Amino acid sequence: MPDYPALKTRFGENCLFDVPAERFTTYRAGGRAEVLVSPADAGEIVWLTGWCRANSVPLLVLGRGSNVLVSDRGLPGVVLLTERLSKIEVSGGAVIAQAGVLWDEVARITAEYGLPGLEKTSGVPGSVGGALRMNAGAYGQETFDRLAYIEAADAEGRIFRLPKKDISYGYRRVRGLEGLVLLSAGFEFASGEAPPLLKERSVVLASRAAKQPLDFPSAGSVFKRPPGDYASRLIDAAGLKGLKIGGAEVSSKHAGFIVNTGGAAAADIYSLMCEVRSRVKEKTGVDLELEQILLGDF
Ligand SMILES: Cc1cc2nc3c(=O)[nH]c(=O)nc-3n(C[C@H](O)[C@H](O)[C@H](O)COP(=O)(O)OP(=O)(O)OC[C@H]3O[C@@H](n4cnc5c(N)ncnc54)[C@H](O)[C@@H]3O)c2cc1C
Repeated sequence: MPDYPALKTRFGENCLFDVPAERFTTYRAGGRAEVLVSPADAGEIVWLTGWCRANSVPLLVLGRGSNVLVSDRGLPGVVLLTERLSKIEVSGGAVIAQAGVLWDEVARITAEYGLPGLEKTSGVPGSVGGALRMNAGAYGQETFDRLAYIEAADAEGRIFRLPKKDISYGYRRVRGLEGLVLLSAGFEFASGEAPPLLKERSVVLASRAAKQPLDFPSAGSVFKRPPGDYASRLIDAAGLKGLKIGGAEVSSKHAGFIVNTGGAAAADIYSLMCEVRSRVKEKTGVDLELEQILLGDF
């Protein structure tokens, strides 16, 4: 039996047991995390990785849970939430953001300081850690565009710095960060003027509000963009807007999104993902690749 009392003593109110995924994912669906821990700093993360190792308990890191679907069977072990790692510093053209900072804060603050290159990623609702892990992006800009380095802790509790040149990345894909807890990232910018960046930010935020079903829980685009096309266009062309399984629905506003219309089980969302993929394949011959991450047993 893992030494849960020691964990609770160390983290107090920042260690919760048996927490439903609706509390830590934007789909607001899925089973329970056995333990949810929110460390305040790198020291607490190193302690937590040591505790997990010593007690043979699996560790999963989550930011805002905005790109994941948690199985109805739940998640065994510890879910580490980064929300308390929330510092961001700007010094000239250098920005350092901890992993739990909202990505949109990075987009907003860099625009305000006149640092160009990430303003079009405004409105991506995840954390810095999640954005790094996925190379999140929008409207032609990506997290890695301005990245200089990542600081991370490995499962043995060693903290180190990874320069961008040592990381392999592409469209919504990053290799070499598996098994690490990302702690913070440094970004580098040329200097520019704030007004056009802030204007671009408003345009992007307005476009998102107009096109995306932001009134319903979702995890954004379900599938990656296939080469030379858009998943949403193919799904729409296959006549799947509004298709429903249980409480899960292919959004009528944006066919690339599956929304939780209320009380959806993760199994409903997962079945709808599979149905959409197979019908798009049947109608268009295109194999859609999942962008969202399935956690637990499906
Ligand atoms: C309405 C809506 C719109 C969206 N629009 C976009 C968009 O335009 N572009 C886009 O790219 N995405 C979009 N997304 C998806 C999502 O917001 C991004 O993928 C985001 O980067 C995920 O960040 P997160 O903190 O929520 O990550 P999570 O969902 O919490 O985690 C995602 C992955 O990252 C890992 N991870 C998270 N933090 C860490 C860390 N500190 N260390 C190690 N691993 C970590 C997790 O283990 C998991 O594998 C959208 C989602 C929603 C709900």
